[in-house]
Amino acid sequence: MLEITKESIEKAIEKARITKPKVKVIQFRLYSVTNKTTGANYEVKFYKISGKKFAECDCKATKICYHIGASIGAHIVLAEQMSRQTV
Ligand SMILES: [Zn+2]
Repeated sequence: MLEITKESIEKAIEKARITKPKVKVIQFRLYSVTNKTTGANYEVKFYKISGKKFAECDCKATKICYHIGASIGAHIVLAEQMSRQTV
């Protein structure tokens, strides 16, 4: 599990913008990211523990990867929708 920091996620989002993988929502906090070129598919999970954000991807990367960068956009939108529904 990797901690999401502003710096690490900005780099990952930047790389996701270039590679443009396909993101599918499996459920809240769980996303499927597919590389359109290679067809490789990875699962990304997000966690929130004592106010800190963490992510996990099942690719080989040992730091915040672009799969996480690609899916965080969908995650933020969903998280906002969820918080509105609970009001
Ligand atoms: Zn990854």
